[in-house]
Amino acid sequence: MHILELRDIHAFYGGIQALKGVNLYVDKGEIVTLIGSNGAGKSTTLKTISGQVKPKQGNIFLNGKDITSALPHETAVSGVAQVPEGRRIFPRLTVKENLEMGAFSVKNKKVVAERMEKVFHYFPRIKERLSQRGGTMSGGEQQMLAMGRALMSGPNVLMLDEPSMGLAPIIVEQIFSIIKELNESGMTILLVEQNAYQALQIANRGYVIQTGEILMSGQSSVLLRDDQIKEAYLA
Ligand code: ATP
Repeated sequence: MHILELRDIHAFYGGIQALKGVNLYVDKGEIVTLIGSNGAGKSTTLKTISGQVKPKQGNIFLNGKDITSALPHETAVSGVAQVPEGRRIFPRLTVKENLEMGAFSVKNKKVVAERMEKVFHYFPRIKERLSQRGGTMSGGEQQMLAMGRALMSGPNVLMLDEPSMGLAPIIVEQIFSIIKELNESGMTILLVEQNAYQALQIANRGYVIQTGEILMSGQSSVLLRDDQIKEAYLA
């Protein structure tokens, strides 16, 4: 059984069809990347999984359970965490408060403290800035905070929407190596990226989405060698 599976997902914004029958799965322990150009439907795909966008047709399964109609907080409690495009940290809250928001559904203070220690392990910089307001952090630090906040919910699947967006190459390298490290310690990851080359470098498998349809999918190593992909996404 796949940990996450989308079957024939159709999604609309008013009259605009953003997804036209998306099929995709993620197995436990994988990094799967969804690549595609601006407006292809990457964010919408993640939003249908997290429950922010309701598909008009199709089904979404988490560990075999149909979560198609789940509300965002229910999906979060079920074990799917989303790091949204543009980070969306709470700028006026402190770094610590931002992290605590990620554990909103966790009553046990000891569990919250343990998760925070884990976050510090991956993101030592965060620990040094706990009392600083989120909005005063750099873009890279905010991305790390957004990832840390997502981890605070103790997810089974971590979804990242364009973590590299707007960051300097050296910071992107750091973020990608942390994603890899998280995966090596067992986290299942669905990574949306416009930065196809780097995403395919760390992913096991990839899907290419274009105007709401999956154009191609396969092992990352195969996609990286594909001429059509090279020309359209890796140039
Ligand atoms: P980006 O990198 O720009 O976020 P994307 O691949 O994530 O691209 P989506 O954001 O999923 O693409 O958008 C898919 C399509 O749906 C696009 O045509 C976009 O214009 C449209 N769309 C996205 N959000 C909305 C919205 N809130 N209202 C109307 N149309 C939308």
